[in-house]
Amino acid sequence: MTELKQHLNEKGLRLTWQRQVVMEVVGKHKGKHLSSSEIFELVKESHPSIGLATIYRTLPLLEKMKLLNKICLDDGCVRYESYTPKEQEHHHLICMACGAVYEVEQDLLGIKEKQIIRDNHFSIKGYMVKLYGYCESCAEKKSEMKKEVAL
Ligand SMILES: [Zn+2]
Ligand SMILES: [Zn+2]
Repeated sequence: MTELKQHLNEKGLRLTWQRQVVMEVVGKHKGKHLSSSEIFELVKESHPSIGLATIYRTLPLLEKMKLLNKICLDDGCVRYESYTPKEQEHHHLICMACGAVYEVEQDLLGIKEKQIIRDNHFSIKGYMVKLYGYCESCAEKKSEMKKEVAL
């Protein structure tokens, strides 16, 4: 945490205890994608005095500080995860049935990047791909349903 504090001090930002607690919770759930209310519930376990409004205020701030990544899924639910620098970028597989989010670290666009820069005079600073589909258990459920209909 001290390295983090130093980094923030250089930027003139303060890491209040509320911000620190939120960072700890998100850090403990690496690879998870937590909604604001899930983060609230987790923080409340150790800090019952914290209010939901504080969490809602804190999350966008931490995102601005580049401590958290915000992921907007099309279900209208905003989720957060630990900040990942560009070289560690990953993409998300999103289940359309249960909303589960999985991570893939493959470089999905790689080869095309230079071409895009050349053709569009657009320099790419990062990208995050969202792939929609069904997770294994939802796909199974779906095929079972189809079987039932067929009977
Ligand atoms: Zn699913
Ligand atoms: Zn992720």
